Amino acid sequence: MKIKCLLGRHRAIKDYSNWKRGYHVSACAECGVEMRSYGSEWEVGPKKAKSN
Ligand SMILES: [Zn+2]
Repeated sequence: MKIKCLLGRHRAIKDYSNWKRGYHVSACAECGVEMRSYGSEWEVGPKKAKSN
């Protein structure tokens, strides 16, 4: 994982963006964490229990 990710500065994959109900869903290009956008700002989605 990149240091930026550890600091919470993830970089969303714009091309991967999917529109859901009222927001976009994407993932971090570096670590793959789910990200959401309700406007112009991307934020990390709710954490899920890891299965692996
Ligand atoms: Zn990340």
